[in-house]
Formats: sequence, structure tokens, C-alpha cells
Amino acid sequence: MGEIYQNLIGGTWRKADDASENRSPSDITDLIGMFARGGAKDVTEATDAAELAFPAWSRSNPQVRADLLDRIATEITRREAEIALMLAREEGKVLPEALAETRRAAHVFRFFAGETLRLKGDAVASVRPDVDVEVTREPLGIVGLITPWNFPIAIPAWKIAPALAYGNCVIFKPAEQTPGSAHLLAQIIHEAGCPAGVFNLVMGRGSVVGEAMTSDPRISGISFTGSVPVGRHLAGTCAANMKKLQMEMGGKNPMIVMDDADLQTAVSVCLNGAFYQTGQRCTASSRLIVQSGIHDAFVAEVEKQLKALKVGHALTEDMQIGPVASESQLNSNLSYVALAAEEGCEVLGGERLNRDTNGFFQAPALFLGSKNSMRSAREEIFGPCASVIRVEDFEEAVSVANDTQFGLSSGICTTNLRNAREFKRRSAAGMVMVNLPTAGVDYHVPFGGRKASSYGSREQGSYAAEFYTSVKTAYTFAG
Ligand code: NAD
Repeated sequence: MGEIYQNLIGGTWRKADDASENRSPSDITDLIGMFARGGAKDVTEATDAAELAFPAWSRSNPQVRADLLDRIATEITRREAEIALMLAREEGKVLPEALAETRRAAHVFRFFAGETLRLKGDAVASVRPDVDVEVTREPLGIVGLITPWNFPIAIPAWKIAPALAYGNCVIFKPAEQTPGSAHLLAQIIHEAGCPAGVFNLVMGRGSVVGEAMTSDPRISGISFTGSVPVGRHLAGTCAANMKKLQMEMGGKNPMIVMDDADLQTAVSVCLNGAFYQTGQRCTASSRLIVQSGIHDAFVAEVEKQLKALKVGHALTEDMQIGPVASESQLNSNLSYVALAAEEGCEVLGGERLNRDTNGFFQAPALFLGSKNSMRSAREEIFGPCASVIRVEDFEEAVSVANDTQFGLSSGICTTNLRNAREFKRRSAAGMVMVNLPTAGVDYHVPFGGRKASSYGSREQGSYAAEFYTSVKTAYTFAG
């Protein structure tokens, strides 16, 4: 066994009792490395270190925090090719997607470098004479950050950057499938001069490391991104332990295509939204709700372009769709393809593909003739699969779009301003797109959804302060 990439606890790389292999989903013979698999003891030690670091860090000059975040952003940019290669290798996204995600992470750190200096409070007139009232924001405390595998550097960045910017100490637990990107980011944060204990990396299983984080009373808040079942469980444990909680979870995002849409725009928006990044985006357009007049032309064009999409090894030049991230995810996707057929859909694509390397490749799938009541149209698949649901008019389209337990992102392709305006108002989702894919957002504005997709305050942009700070109201009598 070669080098084991270790956890970062209290400013040192610490050995864990166990380690796990990280292999590429494009080629399971490609061993990326062995990564520490921490336990509850590591979470306790990381929390001890964070507790020691918190008093000084929480009161540090904001310029110190701004400079640290700026150095991290610069280093991510300097090492972007290396980081993107790691993302592509361990998660399976194609290199241009991996590079774009890495650049986003750098932008996020740079944005929050500025935010350290923009945190505002209020001075309010009191209802009592000679009393001043001030409302200020203070760091929340020690925060636990739990992330999924599908954006292994962007999601950690949009949690870690605001946490540090506002003076919190961090325990970061990345997904088991993508420790390599997390380890690179931890190296960068450490080498940029982050004080010992302010930022800690504890890799390991959700059921062990994640559980330990949600039960330690010294951790004030948990920011989680992942699936609804795990989120539901965390909501219970965090409430029992009185922890502040913020969660971003799954989606079954609708994209409406109206008869008046520009066909080529609609096709490219839907192909991108449904299938890029192998459909493994919480904001993926997995329900294509298409008005009858354009339905057949739309399906014919999507089918043609779908067949031309290149699926294969994430590191091959010009590849468009990488592998599914893991064998278990591939098996789950294939079972949904079979289910859609059983439910009466005509299934185009969706089969497992053989390539030169032993990876988890799957042809993108369209479920034609789908109904919104079908399980294949209601449950999040999290793979390259989209249901096509035919509707008669705008009213039916909006009602189908909103008829879901989720509410993350939604979209409409239309050239009619009234349809666009009306849909933006009536969509029951946290993010609404007009003539743009449901996936793909800016980094300086709030990100999040409604219903089962989200819980707690929004992430990203200046709205991130809602979670990472605690409000204090101070009264002074100067009579
Ligand atoms: P997951 O819920 O299985 O795991 C997410 C994280 O939670 C991992 O780090 C995992 O180790 C940890 N975890 C698991 N059990 C835990 C427990 N008992 N206590 C604490 N932590 C635990 O999700 P995944 O498979 O990694 O990611 C896919 C899911 O993430 C999809 O549902 C997708 O929609 C969602 N997602 C949502 C967003 C968003 O912003 N809304 C973004 C990306 C992914």
C-alpha cells in the first residue's frame, strides 16, 4: 500500500485507523489513491482543535480573513489543471466541466474575500429614552459541512468560503466517493496559512463521521448537501441536538417547452439540462414538459442530437458525457430505465455501454409518452434519464411542473413574454430559468429550492450570512 492521504486536524495531517480506495469510474483499474477513513474519535479531535482556534479566529480582523480567502482563490486558479484532472478522474465529469467547476470554486473564494468587509448590522432608534440599539452579526461557531460527490470542489467551496469569511471554524466531511478533490482543497487552505484548527478535514463514512458531527454539542450548525432521505434523518438529529441546519437536496426539475419556443434553443437547453454532467446534477431537467404542437418535432430533433452525443472516458479529448459516478448509481439508473418501460413509456437509449476501459458508461435515456404520475417521473434518478410529458396548454404545463415533492429549479422555453412572466411568478421552485437550462447558475446570488429540495436559509451570495452568522441585539443606556 502506498501513501495514504490523511485527514487535516488541528493543522496537522493525522493518521486515521482505516483507509479506503478511490478508483476512477471511467476505468476501475485506475487507482487514484488511498484516503483516510476517519471515525468518531477524529471528529472529536477536530472539534477540540476548532474549539481552541475559535476565540482568536472569530475576533480576527476581517482583512486577515479576506487575505486568506484571496490567497486560496489564487492558488486554486494556479493549480486549476491539476484540480480539474482530479475531479474528472474521481467523479467522471468530462475535463471542460471539471475545469469550469474548478474556476467556479476560485470565484466563490474571491467573492467571499470581499464579503468579509461587507458584513453589515443595523443601528436602530430605541422606544426608550437615551437608549441605543445595535443589531450585529457574529460568527455562528464551529460548523460541520457535509457534501455530496457530484460537485466535489464547487459545493465545498460555497460552504467553506462563507464559513471562514464570517469567522467560523470548520469541520469538513466530503463524500466518500470524492476524497481526492477535498484533499487538494484542504492542502490549499492549509498552505495558504489558515490557522491550526480553523479548518479541519475529516474524510470517512456518512454513517460514522457525519453522525458524529451531528451529535457533538459543540458544533453549532450543519450545512448539508445531499439526498432527501439522509437530509430527513439529519433534520431529526440536528433538531434533537438544537443545531442550526441548512440543507440542499434533490430535484425532479421541470423544463416546459411551449409551442412558441424556438426549436433549436429548446433542444439545446433540454439536452444540456438533462444530460450534461451525465445528468448527475440536483438541478438537472429530468421532466421535459412539451406542448403538443411542438412535441413531435422536438422529440425527433432531441433524438437525433442525443444519438450524436459522445459518451466515454472522462479524460478523452472532446468527450461530452462521462461515466456514471459509481456502479451502484449505474445499477440504480438501469433499474429506473426498466421501470419506465414497465410503466408504459417508449424508452430511447438508457442501456449500459461498453468502452475500451472498464467504466460505468450509460447511453442517455429519454422516456417518451411519460405521465407525471409515474414513479419514473416522480422520483429523482440522478442519472442521464429524462421523462417527456406531453401537455395541451400553458395551464396544464404549469400544473404538471409544480406537481412534485421537489422545488429546486424549473424552466420554460418560450418566445412569449406573457408565458415567461407568468411562469416565473407561478413556478413553485427556488430558481426559475427562461430559455436557459435548469442547471447552471451564477455564484454571487442565492442558490436553493423549496419543498423537499431545501431546508433552512439559502446558500451563496450575501444570503450565506443568514446561516453562517448569529444575530445579536445590543442595548446601551447612556443617560
Ligand atoms: P447522500 O445524501 O448519499 O450523501 C451526501 C453526504 O451525506 C455524503 O457526504 C455522505 O457521506 C453524507 N451522509 C450520509 N449519511 C449520513 C448520515 N447519517 N449523517 C451525516 N451525513 C451522512 O448524497 P450523494 O449520493 O452524495 O449525492 C447525491 C444527492 O445530492 C442527490 O439527491 C442530489 O440531488 C443531491 N444534491 C443536491 C444539491 C443541491 O444543492 N440541492 C447539489 C448536489 C447534489
